[in-house]
Amino acid sequence: MSTTTASELYPEVKAFLEGGPLKGIVGGNEVEANSGETFVTSDPGSGKQLAEVFSFQAADIDMAVDVADAAFRKTGWAQLPQNERSALLHRLADAVEKHKPMIAQLESLDAGKIEAQAQGDVQNFVDTMRYFADLAQHVQRRSVLAVPNHEAWTVRQPYGACGFIFPWNFPFLLIGWGIAPALAAGNTVVIKPAEDTPMSAIYLARLAKEVGIPDGVINVVPGLGSVAGAALSANPKLKRMSFTGSPEVGRLVAESCGRNLVPVKLELGGKGAAVLFNDIDIPDTAEKLVNAITFHTGQVCCDATRWLVHKDIYDEFVNECVGRLKKVQVGYQLNDASQMGPVVNEKQHKRVLSYLEKGQAEGAECLLEGGAAKVEGYNGYYVKPALLAGSLDNVAAREEIFGPVAYLAPFETEAQAIEMTNATDYGLANSVWTSDLSRAARVAEAMCAGNSWINAHNVFAHGVPYAGINKSGMGGGVLSVETLFDYWRSLSVVRPL
Ligand code: NAD
Repeated sequence: MSTTTASELYPEVKAFLEGGPLKGIVGGNEVEANSGETFVTSDPGSGKQLAEVFSFQAADIDMAVDVADAAFRKTGWAQLPQNERSALLHRLADAVEKHKPMIAQLESLDAGKIEAQAQGDVQNFVDTMRYFADLAQHVQRRSVLAVPNHEAWTVRQPYGACGFIFPWNFPFLLIGWGIAPALAAGNTVVIKPAEDTPMSAIYLARLAKEVGIPDGVINVVPGLGSVAGAALSANPKLKRMSFTGSPEVGRLVAESCGRNLVPVKLELGGKGAAVLFNDIDIPDTAEKLVNAITFHTGQVCCDATRWLVHKDIYDEFVNECVGRLKKVQVGYQLNDASQMGPVVNEKQHKRVLSYLEKGQAEGAECLLEGGAAKVEGYNGYYVKPALLAGSLDNVAAREEIFGPVAYLAPFETEAQAIEMTNATDYGLANSVWTSDLSRAARVAEAMCAGNSWINAHNVFAHGVPYAGINKSGMGGGVLSVETLFDYWRSLSVVRPL
């Protein structure tokens, strides 16, 4: 396990942490929870407290939605010419890019994410903001309708105040995926970050004020899911809601929104498959899938967690993977030598270990043991990568573990591989690996999910829609032209001639 020295904290990061208890940002002001209640956010790599954060209650959340609603109606944000609104969002992207090292270090500390990976997430936020700021200037919001005896057209208008609830695995990146299209379209937003990772959202709202985004356009309301998250999803004044997280909580959020007839988008979990045919480059594919399952310690919704391998190459592929996984450096997230950091908290640590136990109790073969890992000098939530194999009816093959655990099964025919891929309640992302590109396209199109990738896993390009179906999501998805249109309501205007 990696033991070299961790990088120093930037002075700005130290100052941010020492400036606690951290407040939410509402209407451009730093705001305490009215009750004075706080919660603690900790470093998963050391187990130490990072900061106290004000814990917003229902009344605080309702006040923030009122502020976002007023900002939509009164600040002129929604009426700004598109090029001016986009220019402000570009300024925000520039400011985030300038502060990338600090934001990435805060994110790394809070989420347990390897620092270089956190820098990639911050850059992704910047790219997303620029993508939607530019896109909004190049799409037509007005369409003339050719209807006999009528002058008619449709026009797209922003909705108003939109609520966002985010998980802890990609806190900053996902904020970008969520709010960039909503803001570019002229809406205002209320962001509820996960209680494990609230810091980067607060930092962002401070930057938004500095660059001149009008007060009340971007609000951040830290708090517990069952209190602040529940209050946000039950607020009838919201015009749209977006939730990213587990299917269990997604269902609660959708129920609340349904009662108020607030349109809701859900981006949920997954149990993706990678299908490996017998004509692949085995070492290269092993390297890529090992990287995928260890990336952010396997806490990735779209990860390939079921590896379906043609029987001819199964043994060789397993050997290649086991050799590589044994060499993965588990270590503190701010240590340059670390390749895989901790999981986010004690609950997640127990969850990963319990699936290893339950899976084997149900008869899974253990190809690589995994289990808890120790990192010298750090009392954090570390685990080793693990490989299980066997029947796809096994609990470890069916349920989302959210850790560095892959489940393997051999197949013989293409039809069998497709059937095995689709035998899940989830429907987020799968990949197919083969040098036969006709077969690749055929299998990719037969996979029942929102996304199919060819000879790669975890592929995100701005402009390609990313969404889940079934237990993995509903209501639209992210990252594409369609996402921008999701944040405009359509109004038809007609005059009889
Ligand atoms: P989670 O559902 O426990 O929490 C997500 C958010 O919901 C947090 O902000 C939490 O505070 C809030 N919340 C909790 N209870 C709530 C309630 N009763 N009402 C309203 N909000 C509440 O999920 P998590 O453990 O933070 O994240 C992991 C899950 O997120 C995994 O299932 C993962 O696959 C999924 N995920 C999906 C995507 C995607 O794009 N499809 C991306 C990242 C993560």
